[in-house]
Amino acid sequence: MNQTVTPVEPVLIVGAGPVGLSAALMLARHGIRLRIIDANEGPTDLSKALVIWKRTMDTLNPVLPFERFSDGHPHLRQALIGFGNHHSAVVNFPTPSVGAPSSAMIPQSGTERVLLHRLSELGVEVERRTELLHYSADDLGVTSTIRSTTGSEDVRSQWLLGCDGAHSVVRHGLAIDFPGTTLDRRWMLADFEIAGSNPPPADQVIIKLAQGVNAAFPMGGARWRLIADQGAGHGSEGEMRTPSRDEIQRTLNERTDLGWQVGEIHWTSEFGVNERQVAEYTHGRVVLVGDAAHLHSPAGGQGMNTGIGDASNLAWKLALVLRGAASERLIATYNSERRPVGEEVVRKSSLLLEAAMVEGPLKAIRDRVLPAALSLSAVQNMFSTFLMEETVDYRKGPLADRSGRGPTRSGDFWGLDVGSQAALVLVGDIDESQAPKTLGGPDGIPLTTSAMVPDDPRAMLLPNRAALLIRPDGIVASIGDDIDEAMEWERLLVTA
Ligand SMILES: Cc1cc2nc3c(=O)[nH]c(=O)nc-3n(C[C@H](O)[C@H](O)[C@H](O)COP(=O)(O)OP(=O)(O)OC[C@H]3O[C@@H](n4cnc5c(N)ncnc54)[C@H](O)[C@@H]3O)c2cc1C
Repeated sequence: MNQTVTPVEPVLIVGAGPVGLSAALMLARHGIRLRIIDANEGPTDLSKALVIWKRTMDTLNPVLPFERFSDGHPHLRQALIGFGNHHSAVVNFPTPSVGAPSSAMIPQSGTERVLLHRLSELGVEVERRTELLHYSADDLGVTSTIRSTTGSEDVRSQWLLGCDGAHSVVRHGLAIDFPGTTLDRRWMLADFEIAGSNPPPADQVIIKLAQGVNAAFPMGGARWRLIADQGAGHGSEGEMRTPSRDEIQRTLNERTDLGWQVGEIHWTSEFGVNERQVAEYTHGRVVLVGDAAHLHSPAGGQGMNTGIGDASNLAWKLALVLRGAASERLIATYNSERRPVGEEVVRKSSLLLEAAMVEGPLKAIRDRVLPAALSLSAVQNMFSTFLMEETVDYRKGPLADRSGRGPTRSGDFWGLDVGSQAALVLVGDIDESQAPKTLGGPDGIPLTTSAMVPDDPRAMLLPNRAALLIRPDGIVASIGDDIDEAMEWERLLVTA
């Protein structure tokens, strides 16, 4: 086989799943040259992750308008939860007044195609059937040996992003632990059409907790996904069975009162659950992103969304470092901001699953207490804001506004417009002409300035005169009385 060494690349991304594709998109948006490789021939044709939440769509929106995900796909309005045979609860998802809808029920195969298409529009193509074999890292970069259909190649890159999923070769190369647990349990998964002419409205998730955990998710039209608990003792690894039509129909008949008839079947499988997270996401010039860094139960549909959140947090920091507009130390804040988010997701999705699986006397208590709790709007709000990732909050660190002068809504999200890389929003009487044109000095990234009148609904919780600096991932970086005060944040790019 040929062995060649190519010139130094700024970034090599291993893995073109939803997370690697998002990282590539976000870097390309800031003009960073990169290579992205994937061992597979094309994007997944499996539906896997079904839901993309509002915050994910809003965060990608400046580079990929959210309508490309949401148009033509159902948006969740509510979750109907049946406890035992007698108790039930309805959890409503709010209808947002700005930006993307609460969610879009789009299969992961569709999500990956939307991301790929946009990446291609920006001139970046995924190198397919190209696999990372191994690599060695030093203080200045990484040398990776990759193999494609034309031979092997040593790629020298300043940074290596491990977006290569649960069995990450990049993570293995670091020889670090991936601590956590593997549940001794399997779940059946079936994507099928409901036969007959009157499918239920496709804006609701239906959960039945009578005999094990059973949940149905809308996929558009008469197409639904059923997930059903197969109980303990099956092991979680190894060969997964393909459940039969009879089995799916029997599960529907015996465990739900939906009365559905299984029509055309699109995909059936089984899956197990791992709950794991690495201790550190950043290892010098090697960075772990998405499933390579954290795994958890699909309860709450957070895996892919959390991974895309990782990618958008990392990409702008890496772009500023590569442009020479920020110190390399900034990359450490990717770990300090995102690892706690991953930890929370692992913990809360585990709690959701435990509450759903509870057995014995505790089950009777759950069936009485949870419906009552879920009837309270505060509890509903807690549940839906977690799912929609509105609770993600970086205010414990230095890079998010802690002045208390701005919105203190659970999340600190402020949408960026399509095409912007970072923004300065001026409320009230502030001279726009004084605004800098870049974030991070002359080598930085373009900074868009927009003015807002104090009675704009988005400025409702702000003083009548304020300057807001918005990071490229949509987080409010700082709020000042004037431009200079807001822009003081920039010094953190070299001192963080
Ligand atoms: C049944 C099911 C339902 C789910 N539901 C949801 C949901 O509703 N919401 C949600 O947010 N998440 C959900 N998830 C989780 C979601 O699918 C994952 O979190 C998501 O795919 C992770 O994306 P990723 O890009 O990190 O990894 P992956 O999607 O695993 O992509 C990794 C990529 O890396 C490539 N690769 C691996 N090794 C190499 C190598 N050595 N060289 C080159 N390429 C390599 C692979 O070919 C692959 O394309 C679900 C998962 C399953 C299985």
